[in-house]
Amino acid sequence: MLRKPLLLAARSTTCRTIVERTPMTRAMVSRFVAGATMEEALPAVHELAKDRYITLDFLGEDTTDLSQATGTVTAYQELLAALGEAGLGDRAEVSVKLSAVGQFLNADGEKIALENARRIAEAAKAVGTTVTFDMEDHTTVDSTLAILREVREDFPSTGAVLQAYLRRTEADCRDLSGEGSRVRLCKGAYDEPESVAFRDKHEVDKAYVRALKVLMEGDGYPMVASHDPRMIAIAGELAAAHGRGADDYEYQMLYGIRDGEQVRLAAEGKRMRVYVPYGDEWYGYYMRRLAERPANMLFLARSLVTR
Ligand code: FAD
Repeated sequence: MLRKPLLLAARSTTCRTIVERTPMTRAMVSRFVAGATMEEALPAVHELAKDRYITLDFLGEDTTDLSQATGTVTAYQELLAALGEAGLGDRAEVSVKLSAVGQFLNADGEKIALENARRIAEAAKAVGTTVTFDMEDHTTVDSTLAILREVREDFPSTGAVLQAYLRRTEADCRDLSGEGSRVRLCKGAYDEPESVAFRDKHEVDKAYVRALKVLMEGDGYPMVASHDPRMIAIAGELAAAHGRGADDYEYQMLYGIRDGEQVRLAAEGKRMRVYVPYGDEWYGYYMRRLAERPANMLFLARSLVTR
């Protein structure tokens, strides 16, 4: 019941001001966000790298300002250089929201985002790693996939996120199931209309399994981004049925969610990657985590009060 209002609030500047000014928000956000700066986030990355893989997200989205988009590119370049220096190029990649690097800028937004995405992919390649483009609301999918196609011409390991709740996704999985392709399959975190998306949880789960089947049958590299125990079990069964070894696909979860399960999968010899966000533009990301599980609000508020 709270999902829709929380997702609407995620895009409201008034709500943002209120939430950011609430004294206990910082402590609640720190469960999901590894730090306000790269320096604050890196210790968590080093700790996770002992048994897991990582993808780092410099938080930000819906940028309407060219200098902010350029600043985001610089932040990723600095991050990638730091990962290279720390010898983490084989453990950590980066995740990028194209709206943070200019996709929605009025004049030539898509062209600017493409150039900026290329610059980040170049910096990733220099330290032996790669980039995955996050997927935002459904209006951005065509543009994001078009940019992906162009970037992959020079950086073929660049990956994309597909959202199982979108009705188009099974077909998109088919298009992106070829050799060299990397697809992170998630359920989807935005409030989408019935016309383009399944809205019933059971329908979304069924769509997730259909999309996963396509990816596991294909020649690409499936990235199973879900905390759902059923999806995780089904992914393991499908991988085995298609003769995929532990290095031929991976599991992915968000920082701060089901840490015990992450450790368990890694200890079983599975590839487990954690999505680690950092930065001070945490509002939209944080609100989507609350919308996925509104009990987070009550649980965390209670734990803070009784500390
Ligand atoms: P659910 O059925 O929602 O959850 C299953 C179980 O996981 C829950 O019962 C609960 O135990 C646990 N859980 C799930 N969410 C939470 C939470 N917030 N807090 C605490 N426990 C929780 N979405 C996009 O739209 N675009 C993206 O680019 C994108 N990238 C992602 C990258 C990664 C690596 C992951 C893991 C998710 C990403 N998502 C993205 C979010 C995704 O779409 C879902 O909203 C989110 O993962 C919840 O779906 P679920 O598969 O875990 O299943």
